[in-house]
Amino acid sequence: MFTKYIFVTGGVVSSLGKGIVAASIGKLLQGRGYKVTIQKFDPYINIDPGTLNPYEHGECYVTSDGCETDLDLGHYERFLNILTSKANNVTAGRIYQNVINKERKGNFLGKTVQVIPHITDEIKHNIMILGKKGDYDFIIIEIGGTVGDIESLPFLESVRQLVWELVENCLCIHLTYVPYIVASKEVKTKPTQHSVKSLQEQGIQPNILVLRTEKELDRNICRKVALFCNVDESSVIQSYDVPSIYEVPIILKKQALDEIILNKMHITNNIESDITHWENFIKKMKSAKQTVTIGIVGKYADLPDAYKSISESLLQAATFHKHKLNLILIHSEKINEYNVISHLKNINGIIIAPGFGKRGIEGKLIALKYAREKNKPTFGICLGMQCMIIEFARNVLGLTDANSTEIDQTTSEKVIDLMEKQKHLTVVGGSMRLGTYECQLEKNSKAIKAYKTNIIKERHRHRYEFNITYKNLFEKKGMKCTGINPDTNLVEIIEIPNLNWYIGTQFHPEYQSTIVKPNPLFISFIEASISSINKILHV
Ligand code: GLN
Repeated sequence: MFTKYIFVTGGVVSSLGKGIVAASIGKLLQGRGYKVTIQKFDPYINIDPGTLNPYEHGECYVTSDGCETDLDLGHYERFLNILTSKANNVTAGRIYQNVINKERKGNFLGKTVQVIPHITDEIKHNIMILGKKGDYDFIIIEIGGTVGDIESLPFLESVRQLVWELVENCLCIHLTYVPYIVASKEVKTKPTQHSVKSLQEQGIQPNILVLRTEKELDRNICRKVALFCNVDESSVIQSYDVPSIYEVPIILKKQALDEIILNKMHITNNIESDITHWENFIKKMKSAKQTVTIGIVGKYADLPDAYKSISESLLQAATFHKHKLNLILIHSEKINEYNVISHLKNINGIIIAPGFGKRGIEGKLIALKYAREKNKPTFGICLGMQCMIIEFARNVLGLTDANSTEIDQTTSEKVIDLMEKQKHLTVVGGSMRLGTYECQLEKNSKAIKAYKTNIIKERHRHRYEFNITYKNLFEKKGMKCTGINPDTNLVEIIEIPNLNWYIGTQFHPEYQSTIVKPNPLFISFIEASISSINKILHV
């Protein structure tokens, strides 16, 4: 089958969940046996979101090939259980950089370089790249931003040209918003009408509309939208609020969105989309009776999107163990020696979050001292692991000045330090230790028990490392290095074997946890957290 392209645009407001809708469409097509991938185009000028503050853009997701990407790529991988790569997330910055590099090389042979055709050609080239090898039946292309934004224009123009060129091998789906006005108790279609008009002004006629609403809409509303927007009534789909994002494929399947897509592309396929494993996951999630309470200690407690992959991994693992997840974000800057007990005593398992910079570090160290002394299941991820090392050095090894050079460059005990390779770098963007690295697990460690294999591969995003010169000292006093990079000898996992579950990973296991295959460390951490509830009950 010739690769088919599905463009997903968004209108009215941002944050409607275009990524979730794109991933859900992918899921339904995958359920029919098709090979699917999803690509996201972000119209901002940054080369990638790696240099963005989480307040700007939520979590930065890392692909296995070491690209720092938009958090929607995490949804794509979690929903479809596929690997994405650098080609799956392209920003306007990268498009312009490619074009400017070509201009400097003289590739344009004296021509004036312009948005049309040069920028649009580069966008089109990047849209077509994934389909070139013939590995996919469907490529879903999510255009970031909202129709009507100045910066989206070259992307929409590229879509318009491709619709013209690909004819029936492509389809446009527009996600828009139908608000409910409380005062008049009415839903309003006008913003949707305007949004579709503005798309039409760019020369794009959507084939399918997905209406985001709070509550299920009356069919009359869909009829009205269809009439005003030149879309078949049967192609006006609703995506109303559901308790979990994982239910979105189910509500779209109920409305036969996959069938509508195939019909519009003249593809005959009578197989019903089989997403039984997905439905089973949701059943399990909804029928769970007991609850496990997990606290994430981090400085973005007011910004759940900053820890998106961690919270999704925790939910997957809690569901695996037939438990509901009660997730509490605890602001690390607000923790002090006096209130640490009240913050953490009712928490069954503690995550010490990843991050950058000094802010909130002391709170993390106080939380860790409490967790270690009270033997609470504790999982330190990246900066979280580095904090476990600092806390242990200060309070167990008596190295009171111990620190990471990221936090204090003048510390006399540099237990966490820059790698030699990182010391002379002047470029900030894309220069960390990024992407997948191998890790050899120690016999009899909790990590090997969790993974059930001795070599694993996990993804990284950091500059600093455990200073290997301290390894023996730490091991003698009970903190073991149980995961080692076989090529560089860097320490990737630490554990305190005498405690119930106290593990830190330099990598980010949350980037490799999907509904079909929750990450083994999260499964093991939740298991330990659940047994800690039972212990509290038995005291
Ligand atoms: N700031 C730390 C480093 O760069 C940890 C990074 C992280 O937690 N992702 O090494």
